[in-house]
Amino acid sequence: MLALVFRGPMDLVWEDVPTPDIVGPRDALVRPLAVARCDLDPAIALGLYPMPAPFVMGHEMVGEIVAVGDDAGRWRPGDRVIVPFQLSCMACDPCRSGRSNACVEVPSGTAFGLGPHGGIDLGGALAGLVRVPWADVMLLSLPDGIDPAVAAGIPDNVSDGYRCVASPLAEHPGAAVLVVGGLAPSVGLYALMSAMALGSEHVVYVDDDQGRLDVAASLGAEVVDAGGRWDDLRLDRRFPIVVDANVLDAGRNLALRSVAACGVCTSVSGGAGPTATLPLQQMYLKGVRYEIGRVHACSTAPAVLDLVANGRIDPARIIDRVVPFSDAADAMVEPATKVVFVNDLD
Ligand SMILES: [Zn+2]
Ligand SMILES: [Zn+2]
Repeated sequence: MLALVFRGPMDLVWEDVPTPDIVGPRDALVRPLAVARCDLDPAIALGLYPMPAPFVMGHEMVGEIVAVGDDAGRWRPGDRVIVPFQLSCMACDPCRSGRSNACVEVPSGTAFGLGPHGGIDLGGALAGLVRVPWADVMLLSLPDGIDPAVAAGIPDNVSDGYRCVASPLAEHPGAAVLVVGGLAPSVGLYALMSAMALGSEHVVYVDDDQGRLDVAASLGAEVVDAGGRWDDLRLDRRFPIVVDANVLDAGRNLALRSVAACGVCTSVSGGAGPTATLPLQQMYLKGVRYEIGRVHACSTAPAVLDLVANGRIDPARIIDRVVPFSDAADAMVEPATKVVFVNDLD
């Protein structure tokens, strides 16, 4: 089958790769229908986030089941499903406690479209087929009436934005939220949308990209144009809940100095390099709770799907372009907040 293989920076090629098959009784074979570009994908494709090549790209997907094992639960060929990008058994202690990315049954980081981990290569979604292990517990049903292209981001970036604000807003209902946008462009805007859907009284969005600022304003946020002044920018208030979707040090430091006493700041990235400097003394004195780590995709996606199905989050509001798979190699590195690829393979 054809698949879009990352061969190195600026080197994405559609190639013939082995077609997956049912291996275990709980497997499903899924034909990807729509694949959203993750905020990390352009950085991988450009070589800004070094990853060992080769591997098949694409990990935010909605697809159609084409075959199932003998024990794959309720799924049948023709069912449309949302596929969480991380592999999780949903039965071990971390999975059962909502920390599904820490599943003890697979090597850390095992996911679609992000290369092999610990000898497990799940392939990627920009392909004719993917094999989904533990399909009975991994997959979510795509409700009728939701466009696969709109839902494709739910299992990763939409969930990533949601988790930054969901627990803090449950602790502090109605609290004001600050989102610092930037190199995780869609995650920041999904955090903003989630904060509004979950009842934040006031959402402020800081960025220096005019397109994203316009989207944030259209969604109802108060926007602040950082205008390249990240190091000097001081907001006129502090926030009990802050989201750092900026990725760079200056954006993260703005996020951290804007947290109110005993507030929480969540970073959706480990930064642009292996180490970063944190203002730990300020954080200590203010009692900042700093959350950092990958989203728990399987644990989080069901609640996000409910919000989308109920119309309280509309991921389509930030999708710039929907393009066929055959244009994915070029579109992977285009400047855009969110691109979705739809399957035009035979
Ligand atoms: Zn991702
Ligand atoms: Zn597990």
